[in-house]
Amino acid sequence: MAGRTIRSILETKRDGGKLDPADLTAVSQGAATGEWGEAELGAFLMAAFVRGLDVEEAAALTRAMLESGEQWRLADDMPLLGDKHSTGGVGDTVSLVLAPLFAACDLPMVKLTGRGLGHTGGTADKLDAIPGLDLHLDRERACRLVDEVGLAIGIATDAIAPADRKLYELRDRTGTVGSLPLIAASILSKKLATGAAAMVFDVKVGTGALVADLDASRALARELVDVGNSLGTATAAVLTDMHQPLGEWAGHTAELREAYDCLEGRGAEDLMTVVYTLGERLSTLLGHPVSVAELEAAITSGRARERFDRWAAAQGADPSWLARPDLELAPEEVVVTASRSGVLARVATRELGNILIRAGGGRVVKHAPIDTGVSLRRERMIGDDVRAGEPLARLHLRRHDAELVRHAEACFEIDDEATAHPFIHDHVA
Ligand code: URA
Ligand code: CA
Repeated sequence: MAGRTIRSILETKRDGGKLDPADLTAVSQGAATGEWGEAELGAFLMAAFVRGLDVEEAAALTRAMLESGEQWRLADDMPLLGDKHSTGGVGDTVSLVLAPLFAACDLPMVKLTGRGLGHTGGTADKLDAIPGLDLHLDRERACRLVDEVGLAIGIATDAIAPADRKLYELRDRTGTVGSLPLIAASILSKKLATGAAAMVFDVKVGTGALVADLDASRALARELVDVGNSLGTATAAVLTDMHQPLGEWAGHTAELREAYDCLEGRGAEDLMTVVYTLGERLSTLLGHPVSVAELEAAITSGRARERFDRWAAAQGADPSWLARPDLELAPEEVVVTASRSGVLARVATRELGNILIRAGGGRVVKHAPIDTGVSLRRERMIGDDVRAGEPLARLHLRRHDAELVRHAEACFEIDDEATAHPFIHDHVA
């Protein structure tokens, strides 16, 4: 069957009409193969941004983008395979704890993670502190690792969703990044490539999140859940707080250290609440519910911690390092202090992430090296009392930088009163 012309597809969306799956497949293939030029793709993105895509259209576009690349369809072999995705924040750390915890509860997980770009850190970069660890994964190795240790973590390759790479770049250039269906299609076309049976989204809310306000985050969660479900993957979302960095630490090596703390039962309450909530939700979606009490027991018994080491060793980590992990932070510790007495009311979280990048602990361009020892430690949370001169946070830097520290101090706003934020804002099913 001859498809419609590019121009007539564009005219339909320009005029607010609805596109067929075949039209959206043409867009995705056009992006992946170069058959559609940048003018046509840019026009599609703008029309989609302005006119919107309904759930059927977003699902058809997502499916086409997913099918533009490699698909592992792992649930065919592992019906209890779950996956989790965060929309990104500062100090997230959740995946490094949840993955071994899930495996310790006999629920497999295969995670393809990314390198960080912008104000959020990538899980793959955090794992770089472990010598020998090999994050190259293909389907066969993932299956073998799940058989052996219940868990595989790797880096997403260029073979996954090539249509998204082209569209993502053009969205950035055409001012169309913020469209919810385009965001959902972008995220899901990559996340569904492994083919987990169920997926839970950690949609962050607040000053460090992809979308800051609660209503917009809820709408993003709704879009992700509806599109995921309509493509046949049981999907749910939890709206979690990102008005301040999650957990006690942000930074690469520091978050790996924090993951060890969590797995050894010393995790911060906010971070552990997010881990347990996502774990309970995902296990329920898989039809194999694990309660918070059972998740806690996997930590206190040491099973989750032990599973982390078994997994890391199976992926090539140096056993002598695993026996005595060296997780040294950047040497220059600087205290960020309160300029007045009161209550910590607001934190410019994205800005704090950018400060870590400026200190060398993140990248602004792809493939740039990272100073993984640069980190931020929290001393106060929103809603906590603080007196002038007391610590709000500590920065671990490679070298002292007075301007950076002043900038960090300006990220913390103290008021006469303020209330703490809930760790979990909402559920979307
Ligand atoms: N992450 C993605 O992969 N795509 C988006 O559009 C936004 C966040
Ligand atoms: Ca953290």
